[in-house]
Amino acid sequence: MPQPAAPVHHPEPLQDSLLGWYDRHHRSLPWRVSPGDHAAGRRPDPYHVWLSEIMLQQTTVAAVRDYFLRFIDRWPSVHALAAAELDEVLHAWQGLGYYARARNLHKCAQAVAGAHGGRFPETEDALRALPGIGPYTAAAIAAIAFDRAALPVDGNVERVTARLFALETPLPDGKTALRERAEALTPSRRCGDFAQALMDLGATVCTPTSPKCLVCPWQADCAAHARGIAAELPRKRPKPAKPTRRGVAFWILRADGAVLLRRRPERGLLGGMMEVPSSEWREGAAPNPAVAADDAPLAPNPTAGWRNLPGLVRHTFTHFHLELTVLAGRTGHVAAPPGAVWSPIDRLGDHALPSVMKKVVRHALRHAGGGPPA
Ligand code: SF4
Repeated sequence: MPQPAAPVHHPEPLQDSLLGWYDRHHRSLPWRVSPGDHAAGRRPDPYHVWLSEIMLQQTTVAAVRDYFLRFIDRWPSVHALAAAELDEVLHAWQGLGYYARARNLHKCAQAVAGAHGGRFPETEDALRALPGIGPYTAAAIAAIAFDRAALPVDGNVERVTARLFALETPLPDGKTALRERAEALTPSRRCGDFAQALMDLGATVCTPTSPKCLVCPWQADCAAHARGIAAELPRKRPKPAKPTRRGVAFWILRADGAVLLRRRPERGLLGGMMEVPSSEWREGAAPNPAVAADDAPLAPNPTAGWRNLPGLVRHTFTHFHLELTVLAGRTGHVAAPPGAVWSPIDRLGDHALPSVMKKVVRHALRHAGGGPPA
């Protein structure tokens, strides 16, 4: 059966219908200026826009809302955030994942407070020169904070665009075409509202499964809806399976019940975060604990040696699965090696431990116990 041809699109009616829908149905978000207030001349605070966009990278609005409110309560301006200690920021970021973003957030605040005198630059190019700001975030800030003609294109916008134009080239090959089609929709006025309207449409109406086409402002123009293939788009190339890396974590308990923690190198995965010291994480067979013990930062009390705790700690990162064996050992009153600290067990929460290391702590407490020997 022949497929209906994609409707011819002129962007103005599409812009008008989406902006009209946004005026009536926009989400109320703590970092957002509503379209009514915007029309009355209230401008979004670029600090709020930037902070929310960094937090929203790969995280949901629901997860970000409370973090955002806590951050602006504690650091009400970019100057205040720039003056904070990195550890405080990392600690406040805990639970949002992707700690490199929190480190870049701090660096960016310092760059804006220093080199830019506390004012965020307005163009995409100048924004992209700042730490942690990629093309999407630069476009989002330029559009939302400064009403520049920019369109942040993320997975939501790709999905809506693929459906609107029934573009069937699987992702990621189809990305460039989707970006071009999406950018061609950008209006010359109300650019920030348009970008946010598209975000809201993708989040609340043109959702990944079961798009609500009946209430969509673009229903009459949507090629995928006309063909009945909306829920199938965008098509995606099958992903290769994630590899599994394996390593050993060392749960080292001092005689007074303190646990050894170590700071990971600044560069690389979980850079700058505290960890239960661990060996390198490598693909391949499970490490032999007797051999891996050579990587431990301290040797345990020789009479008791290492105890291989039952089970594994499993965690999944973006690009690989991780399985950690945990070796538990006790030491006397020895000094912490360089880069490491002794932390009382009941103060572990004071450290910016990433989720995988929280799992290691829970596993060790369950199987090895804690505190000084009876
Ligand atoms: Fe998405 Fe349906 Fe709207 Fe098309 S009509 S843009 S598929 S919600």
